[in-house]
Order: sequence, then C-alpha cells, then structure tokens
Amino acid sequence: MSKEFVERMMETVVARNPGETEFHQAVREVAESVAVVIDKNPQFAKMKIFERMVEPERQMIFRVPWMNDKNEVQVNRGFRVQFSSAIGPYKGGIRFHPSVYLGIVKFLGFEQIFKNALTTTPIGGGKGGSDFDPKGKSDNEVMRFCQAFMTELFRHVGPDTDVPAGDIGVGGREIGFMFGQYKRLTNSYTGVLTGKGLEWGGSLVRTEATGYGLVYFVTRMLEAKGKSWKGLDVVVSGSGNVAIYAVEKAHQLGARVVAVSDSNGYIVDSKGINIDTVKQIKEVERGRIKEYVQRHPSAKYHEGCADIWSVPCQVALPSATQNEIDEAAARQLVKNGCLAVGEGANMPSTPEAIQVFLDNNVAFGPAKAANAGGVATSALEMCQNSMRLSWTFEEVDARLKLIMNSIYEQCTKAADAYGQKGNLVAGANIAGFLKVAKAMMAQGLV
Ligand code: NDP
Repeated sequence: MSKEFVERMMETVVARNPGETEFHQAVREVAESVAVVIDKNPQFAKMKIFERMVEPERQMIFRVPWMNDKNEVQVNRGFRVQFSSAIGPYKGGIRFHPSVYLGIVKFLGFEQIFKNALTTTPIGGGKGGSDFDPKGKSDNEVMRFCQAFMTELFRHVGPDTDVPAGDIGVGGREIGFMFGQYKRLTNSYTGVLTGKGLEWGGSLVRTEATGYGLVYFVTRMLEAKGKSWKGLDVVVSGSGNVAIYAVEKAHQLGARVVAVSDSNGYIVDSKGINIDTVKQIKEVERGRIKEYVQRHPSAKYHEGCADIWSVPCQVALPSATQNEIDEAAARQLVKNGCLAVGEGANMPSTPEAIQVFLDNNVAFGPAKAANAGGVATSALEMCQNSMRLSWTFEEVDARLKLIMNSIYEQCTKAADAYGQKGNLVAGANIAGFLKVAKAMMAQGLV
C-alpha cells in the first residue's frame, strides 16, 4: 500500500505540475515518509489530506517592471505561493536569484509547511521570490526593484495573512526597501515582514538564527553519537547569512571550520576560517570569497564550488543551495570520515546522497528540522511585534535553543513511533505532517 500510495501521488503531482522537478523531489521525499502514517490513519486518506497538501491554497505570478541606472526598462517575474494556512498565517522567505521559477518557489513553500509545523509556533507555509539577480546592482537599483515587487505583493500579504522574510539574495537591505514600500502603500506600520532592522521592529538573534539553530540541532546529533564539537573539523558551503552564523557558532563551541564557498569557488584555511574577514567581504563589501586569500595568504582558493565536499571533515553543513551534495560528494564525505551532516540550506542533498548517509551511519539532520531556527525566530519577531516590545539577545537565543531541542525530540520520537529509529528525515516529515493533518481534519474541507 505504501509504495502504491507514493507512486499514485507522484503520478498526479508530476502530471499536474509539469517540469517542476525540485517540487516533485520535495513531494516524493515527504510522501515516502508519511505513507506509513496514512496507512495507519485511514481518515487521512478519506479526507485526502496529502492530496490537499500538495495543492497550494493560492499562488500568484506577477510582472515586476522597474528602471535600471541607465534608465532602461527591466522586466522580472515575481512569485508568491501560499501553500498552507492550517496552523497559522502563511510564512516563508522571498528568494531573489536568476534561477527562480515556479518549481523552486513551490518546493520551498511545500517544505516550509512541515518545517513551520515543527517549530512549535503557529505559522503556516508559503514562499516567494523573483528571477531578479541583486548581484552587481546598485543600491538604488535594488531599491527600485524591491519597491516594484512590493507594489504588487502588498495586496496579498499582511501581519495576520502572510508574513514573508529573507532567503537567498534577500537580506536586511531588501527587507528594508520592501517594508518601506508596504508601509507607504497601506499607511500602516505592522509586522508584515520579518528580518527587519533592530531599530524598526526587528528581533535580536534573527540574523544569526538559522546558522546558530543549525549548530544547536547538530549538537544534539553529535551528542547521540557521544561526541561534542570540540576539536572537530567542519566544512560549510556558502558564505551568506546561514553559513556565516553557522561558522561563528561552530567556532564558539570549539570546532574548526576549514572551508567556506560562494557560487564561484571555495577557500580552505587549515588554521580555521576567520569569520570577521568573511563578514567584512560578504556583509559589508558584498565581494567574492576569493578575496579572502588576499587577506590570509596561507589560505587557498579553488575555482568552482562542487569540490568543497572533498575537503576532509567530521561535520558537513551545506548552507548554500538545493542539490549541492550529490551521491559522489556524499561518498567522498563518508570516505573522509564524516560523522554528521546538518542541512543549513533547503534540500541541499539529493535523494541518492541522503541514502548514502543513512546507509553509512552518518548522522543526518534534514533541512526541515535543522534549519528551522530561522523561521522560528521570525515567529518570535512576529510575537514581539504584536506585543510591541523587544526581548533581549539572551532571551531570544534561549528560546531558539529550546525550540531546536524540541524539534530534535519531535523528530526522534516520531521516527521511533513509526519504526524508523534514528532516521531524522522520516521523523521530521512524520511529525510535521501529523500536526498539519490534525489541524486540517479539525477545520473541515477547506
Ligand atoms: P544568502 O543569499 O545570504 O547566501 C547564499 C550563499 O550561497 C552565498 O554564498 C551564495 O553565493 C551561495 N549560493 C547561492 N546560490 C548558489 C548556487 N546556485 N550555487 C552555489 N552557491 C550558491 O542566502 P542564505 O544564507 O539566506 O540562504 C542559503 C540557504 O539557506 C538557502 O537554501 C535558503 O533557502 C536556506 N535557508 C535560509 C534561511 C534564512 O534565514 N536566511 C532559513 C532557512 C533556510 P553567491 O554570493 O556567489 O551567490
């Protein structure tokens, strides 16, 4: 029955969403995990819970016209997919990257449903983005684009409806420009976006949250193997928001991060990556990671980012983009003695890579669970905005730690309960699915 359920589901999803390969990949992974739950709970099959979950409640695709610095008209495409409001307002980031199309936004939005359910906070799932590339654009161009994007998006979002945040290519600068435009269009000052600046409604720890949360989660995975971070070598891909704060926290806990990357290449610094230099290059100067070696001549730069997984490490934290670890890279990591992989990015490991990790007793923390600290802290930002007050760094960080611990517990318990002890992929999918499924059952056919 389980296998038949998965194949029937996939046949429908592929036929109804042609060409959206990342979305198909994300749905298949969840379907494979929850088939056993649906088997045991015929009421979910009868009410077509999974069939409803794979169909977004609403999806918007819109034109984004804007003017570049040479006074030339540019046309981009904007997306917002509101997947599920079963347990709260839609919540999920906005990605600006030339590779963005509907299939990417839908894979991210679908994952977000279950991730958000795991956070213990009341938020539904959604995602958005555009094929706009912020790289190489002036601040004024980015501002004009963000204003044009929000000029359409504003009618679909709101603090109790849909609360977007950042993702690849969308950081504090972009959130600021979009927030300003929303405020102007609606004449209201509300927590419609998270990841805001600290002076105007943002939460302490939100910037650090995904990377720190990832390391808190992997701490539990290492503890289950009787290990701590002390003395471990770590490889982190990417050098953006998630990667930077994963490196920072791993260092604080006694590990040594030896490599980071961007989309052009990677650097290896066997003395340990100097995170202040990376922050300066990436957050302040918006430069390329290869500039690191000019400031630390003992480090080495390698063109192309795929080979980063050949750098020996005990912990790998893929934190750049989807499908960046394939089967060959996974085998290389195993061969080099990797003990644990924690996904900072969304779906960075291919299904074949995940199988290699599971078969070789590598502790594997799937994105839905391991990188949920970002959206969880966004939910804490929403909470502070509603109460019109701000918590201290220590208070938010303590809540983040509690949440990551709770996610770890939910995943291990659900995996245990369904006969998959230690499989956090199955655990995360099952625990997230059950919470949303129960809410959908309670709310009737909507
Ligand atoms: P950033 O834009 O801050 O950084 C992305 C990093 O990944 C950059 O170093 C970028 O290099 C690299 N990168 C992006 N696309 C590619 C690609 N196609 N190939 C190789 N490298 C690439 O994004 P974030 O750090 O916010 O996001 C990283 C990942 O984490 C994404 O998968 C995102 O969905 C996920 N995530 C983010 C959360 C958050 O709170 N920000 C929350 C949960 C998940 P370059 O600068 O050269 O483009």
